Amino acid sequence: MIRFNCPCGAEVFFESRICQFCKRALAFNPSTMSFEVLPQQAALTEPDADKTLCQNGIDFGVCNWLAHKDASDGLCSGCQYNRTIPNLSRTENIKRWEVIEAGKKRLLYGLLRLGIPITSGWQLPGKGLLFDFLEDQRSNPEAEASFITTGFLDGIITLNVLEADPALRFVEQQAANEVYRTVLGHLRHESGHYVYSLFTEDHCLQQSFAALFGDSSEDYNQALQRFYANGATPDWDRDYITPYASSHPLEDWAETWGHYLHLHDTLETAASFKLIPTPLRDQTFDERIQSWRDLSVGFNELNRSMGLNDAYPFVINEKVAEKLQFANAVTDAVKTQNLESAVAPPHS
Ligand SMILES: [Zn+2]
Ligand SMILES: [Zn+2]
Ligand SMILES: [Zn+2]
Repeated sequence: MIRFNCPCGAEVFFESRICQFCKRALAFNPSTMSFEVLPQQAALTEPDADKTLCQNGIDFGVCNWLAHKDASDGLCSGCQYNRTIPNLSRTENIKRWEVIEAGKKRLLYGLLRLGIPITSGWQLPGKGLLFDFLEDQRSNPEAEASFITTGFLDGIITLNVLEADPALRFVEQQAANEVYRTVLGHLRHESGHYVYSLFTEDHCLQQSFAALFGDSSEDYNQALQRFYANGATPDWDRDYITPYASSHPLEDWAETWGHYLHLHDTLETAASFKLIPTPLRDQTFDERIQSWRDLSVGFNELNRSMGLNDAYPFVINEKVAEKLQFANAVTDAVKTQNLESAVAPPHS
């Protein structure tokens, strides 16, 4: 991620709502990728105030993006992708929603930086992107559903709200024997399924996909059942970034895409803070992969120095590097240079 400043010059961060230096209220403008000072709170209710904090920021404190003044429901371009928000009659869900929104905004930032075209499901039902944040009985005994799986179907990313609760998430992580589990990681993975839908008609990319990942038409339910019954294929670490990636070619792709976003965003952060020697613009994608390997070893050691777990407990071997190269080729094929259209309000 790039570094941000308040218009007064002080450093602010992607989640900032107030400048700690000049104390003015701020909002992030995704069209310009910069922070703007909000007018006085009172002015927000005036119909012609031209800069508005997203209504989800005003009402619930869960968003710091700027909304178009004529936007539907007063929502920013990021919040307009929400189809179902957590049940707010349970107060703990406001905190969880805040965590989810922060992850979702980082996801959207990453996709926008890459120029990935995002169409909403309001515009393109059945294919465009929307989010459902749902509860099941594991986090709410009164919930209707006993089990909600985080996943992707027909443009809809479903995230189980329990993933935003550190204690509940840790239980799931232990049960699945995973080395890394975060809201952002889930969302980046699921966005891979959306990006896949952008090149299903591209014969050339589909051929390369089949050569690298395998046959995407392999029976999905059977493959997942096999994975959950028997675990990963033996020697999974020879060909895959995670055990789960070995379950099905489309899951391998989504895992790869998630890691591609990890690499892209975190390297950008490192470059912004001058933590890597060569500016990113001077690096080929191969060199970026090597930078990422070096950097991740370094920050894992930093974490260990602080008594924390590794931030990136994964190994990028040559086979995985090839898959990341493919993700980069997909980005080049689908990306739009038009940031304005990439962040246009999904519906109004
Ligand atoms: Zn300031
Ligand atoms: Zn918003
Ligand atoms: Zn998946």
